[in-house]
Amino acid sequence: MTDLIKMSAAELASKIKSKEVSAVEVAQAHLDRIEAVDARVHAFLHVDRAGALAAAERVDKGEVTGPLAGVPVAVKDVIATKGVPTTAASKILEGWRPPYNATIVERLQAAGTVMLGKTNMDEFAMGSSTEYSAYGPTNNPWDLGRIPGGSGGGSAAAIAAYEAPLAIGTDTGGSIRQPGAVTGTVGAKPTYGGTSRYGLIAFSSSLDTPGPCARNVEDAALLHAVIAGHDVRDSTSIPQPVPDVVGAARLGASGDLSGVKLGLVKEFAGDGSEPGVSAAFRESLEALVKLGAEVVEVSCPHFQYALPAYYLIAPSECSSNLARFDGVRYGLRVGDDGNRSLEEVMSLTRDAGFGPEVKRRIILGTYALSSGYYDAYYGQAQKVRTLITRDFEKAFEQVDVLVSPTTPFVAFPFGSRTSDPYQMYLADLFTIPTNLYGGPAISVPCGLSEGLPVGFQIMAPTMADDRMYRVAAALESAVGTLTPPAL
Ligand code: GLN
Repeated sequence: MTDLIKMSAAELASKIKSKEVSAVEVAQAHLDRIEAVDARVHAFLHVDRAGALAAAERVDKGEVTGPLAGVPVAVKDVIATKGVPTTAASKILEGWRPPYNATIVERLQAAGTVMLGKTNMDEFAMGSSTEYSAYGPTNNPWDLGRIPGGSGGGSAAAIAAYEAPLAIGTDTGGSIRQPGAVTGTVGAKPTYGGTSRYGLIAFSSSLDTPGPCARNVEDAALLHAVIAGHDVRDSTSIPQPVPDVVGAARLGASGDLSGVKLGLVKEFAGDGSEPGVSAAFRESLEALVKLGAEVVEVSCPHFQYALPAYYLIAPSECSSNLARFDGVRYGLRVGDDGNRSLEEVMSLTRDAGFGPEVKRRIILGTYALSSGYYDAYYGQAQKVRTLITRDFEKAFEQVDVLVSPTTPFVAFPFGSRTSDPYQMYLADLFTIPTNLYGGPAISVPCGLSEGLPVGFQIMAPTMADDRMYRVAAALESAVGTLTPPAL
């Protein structure tokens, strides 16, 4: 049944609907594939075999319908799944089984999808390589000695390795798009507030955005449409209709971009991208011009401050959000022998439960928020955020979307960027400005550099998610999708 694992989500949905294949067969084929390759890829932290087969059976019995009925999906382990272990790849949440589902999980169920399990990630979604997972890294299916990106490397690798046709990620600074880029898959960050954060373990609440991962643009749009939309349980959720992302992807696939203006950010040129990345990006840009698009150079002078602003804002919010992991309410509890004070138990628990990168972020954030430094660090970063938003707004007066490589470098070997945090942070150079602004952005495979995938990023104005899907599908129609080497 190798065919089933190679099919798109759209194909699977239609074959299951017409009863050409059963949902149970489809689930079984993916569970077998996980069994066969995941010891080498390590995309999953938990496989819910029984839950998946039971959900598939309900579809086959006609008890559950919906646009993606019977289509398997993998979910990043930072999202609460009722009764199914949810750790955020941290020791501090080891063994935690949430008593409720995240809104997007409810929506996945309502759409009839079959959840296969929970995917690996950097601890609490902090990182760009999955090397900060407390449970060991995920290996890139293109080259098992290289990183699959992060933080959502497990979701991207699961798709690239044909362990699932669809996956859910979360993007705070690039954690859907950068893994998409380095695994040759599609990853989209919806408009902030376009997808609900209810039930998502918070890292940086003003940035966190759940979104779809898939092997092609139409599948990403189908998944996006299912999870997006207003949720009263998330106060920053946008009470507006979801843009027609599926229609836009189908329109783009016709390959006509006449009249569409693509903005090339002047300040991103000479940015230190690897030559092979720049070459693949340029060639793809030319392909878009052949489809009728026009390229306009735009200036976004404050983008150069995005990385430092992000690494003040995100850690600040993280230091506040992660205060809840105190050894009292969830998961790990260390040193409670009856002789220690509550403070000592909390301190021992947090010391044992958090990994080094999470501790670095908490310390950085606590410092940036401390009295006397607040204005100089956190306050200043918020001002920069406003200036970056204005850069985007000005740019979108001149062009329809902005384009760039997704990340400056292809998948790097394990261990090559862990000794210097700044080198790791550079992976997000091109993805972070969008998070600070709040608009949608997508990474689409656009070719290879030294045999490894390169991602093309398309950024659109807030709530114009459809626009980015149109351009993304057009690009895909011109350059095709990528197939990883056989595992
Ligand atoms: N790599 C970035 C970080 O470490 C982005 C993480 C994310 O998007 N979750 O913060």
